Amino acid sequence: RRVRRRVVTFEEAVTRDGVSIVVGANLGSVADARAAAANGADLAGLVRTEFLFLDARPGVDAQEAAYREIGNALGGRRVTLRTLDVGGDKPLPYLPRAAEANPFLGVRGIRHSLAHPELLADQLLAIVRVAREFPVSVMFPMVSAVDEVIRARALLDAAIARDGRGGPAGLRVGIMVEVPAVALKAAAFAPYVDFLSIGTNDLIQYAMAAERGNPALTPLADGCDPGVLRLVDAVCRASRNVAVCGELAADERAVPLLTALGVRELSVSPLLIPAVKEAVRGAGTDRNAVLDLLDLPDAAAVRRALG
Ligand code: PEP
Ligand code: MG
Repeated sequence: RRVRRRVVTFEEAVTRDGVSIVVGANLGSVADARAAAANGADLAGLVRTEFLFLDARPGVDAQEAAYREIGNALGGRRVTLRTLDVGGDKPLPYLPRAAEANPFLGVRGIRHSLAHPELLADQLLAIVRVAREFPVSVMFPMVSAVDEVIRARALLDAAIARDGRGGPAGLRVGIMVEVPAVALKAAAFAPYVDFLSIGTNDLIQYAMAAERGNPALTPLADGCDPGVLRLVDAVCRASRNVAVCGELAADERAVPLLTALGVRELSVSPLLIPAVKEAVRGAGTDRNAVLDLLDLPDAAAVRRALG
């Protein structure tokens, strides 16, 4: 019996028309970071830091050590550390949160961090420290207003001052695009960030009004819905540095659509990296070739057209 094995390739993924696409990994642990390195990740495009400390609030040193371990496992590749994304479906027992009728529309992500700036300040200090040892991007989740980014960046500047050694050379700052309004006004954010990373898990849920994880709504919550694709397109019109780190990035049928719209980085679960790189090698970057799909009525029609 012949067993077909997918070959893990450490070569970069280049489209048919010669454009390099970064394929990174989404991580929630050091074990994930090792799996990412073993599967040819170009970088870590999303570290879900809320999963690193589930039981007790960590100090600055413990956070620094955890990020360093992830960075070391990735051998000098860039690590995108997302600040705590609590709230919604992700409660943390040690963090104060008021009861909310609609937690997905409540105080989550950056909203929670700005309401508790002492937590964010400690996390940013730990991030600034490790950013001297390997290239680091800091990413803010659940952003909905430019003012939130300005305030978060001010806390980052304060962390750099507290560290006292000047800004780390490779430090980049970005936001997640998970709120439909942010996709539509992405150009307003561009002056304040180095990159935009589309979190399709949440973006789909908010755009389609279909709660993520509710199996009754799975057919509705499809990132190939033209309404969602138009939001992705809007982000790509506003910036050259657009990533997708939601699960749509691992959908081999959707990958050619994302690259054609202008996405230049895909970040996925570590084991899916080889398959996504293969999908990129069959994809192109001509937006005109996919524009018609944005006029189709629903995800099913788009998927049929993709063949
Ligand atoms: C997303 O919303 O697409 C995302 C990547 O973030 P999370 O799944 O952690 O909410
Ligand atoms: Mg999200």
